[in-house]
Amino acid sequence: MCGDGALPGTPTRRLLGVECPVGRRGRRQRSNRRGRVMAAEPPRISPNMMPRRTRSIPPAASTPQRRHAFSPLVPQRGWPNSIVYADTGILVSVGRNRSCIPRFEAHYAGRLRIAESVAMEIERNADPATPVDGRLRTAAALAKTTLIDGGSCAVDSDDNYDSRTFDEVHAKLKNLPRRSDEPNHPLAHLGEAASIALCIARTSQGELVVFLVNDGGASVVAAQYGIPARHFGQVLAELICSGHFTSSDAFDALAMATAVTGIPQGAVPMSASALECRRAADGRSCGACDAFATAVAAGQE
Ligand SMILES: [Zn+2]
Repeated sequence: MCGDGALPGTPTRRLLGVECPVGRRGRRQRSNRRGRVMAAEPPRISPNMMPRRTRSIPPAASTPQRRHAFSPLVPQRGWPNSIVYADTGILVSVGRNRSCIPRFEAHYAGRLRIAESVAMEIERNADPATPVDGRLRTAAALAKTTLIDGGSCAVDSDDNYDSRTFDEVHAKLKNLPRRSDEPNHPLAHLGEAASIALCIARTSQGELVVFLVNDGGASVVAAQYGIPARHFGQVLAELICSGHFTSSDAFDALAMATAVTGIPQGAVPMSASALECRRAADGRSCGACDAFATAVAAGQE
């Protein structure tokens, strides 16, 4: 740079933070046609004089991230012989509508489970000291007193899953792209990670397991381990097929749930007719829902 070649005693001046000699090498002189020396011009500023900057814009992701992966394998009426693990979003969805609670309990009687971390999350949201939306607090409180304290869902302890699997699942959930309005608190994803780790443990024991969750990212991670995920809209469709709900009442319950939890765009049913059971004319069998649900879900992928 300029300052390196300056001889001792050569006048210098600062240019862009660098000492530059003044004189033949440091300033330019030019003559007009009559040979008169014109006023010296300052050295031209060049981008080459600027210090190099490190790259601050990260490169774009090479492949777009999937937003959800709710399972196309589970039929509309569900798998009656499966056990289900419900995440916090599902329980508060149920707790949002008092009439939904006994129907949900009846449909999953004896096979509904939650992770201990989910029970704690429900308890935290139900606590008046926790700064959450009042509708969420009320729904969580109702879910706690009925589903959890009432004993209709079994709480699985942290001892029932492999801690390394939990760590791996948790890391994947934390690395998912977040929405701008999504809070990033230290307890985020603990319930989902524990639920998926439990689903993996039960599946490895030969049980048929479905993960009930509204979060699209959690459904993507669950799918990576072969765990089928269903959201609250699909839970309601099961309740319709089993005769616990009419499609219009179920759609009302879905609308109420959107105040406390979100199902990703593109996955959420947009009308009551999308939830209807294709029950046979004799009213006894809805076997047609199996093929229908599979086709619809596959079409969403
Ligand atoms: Zn049906």
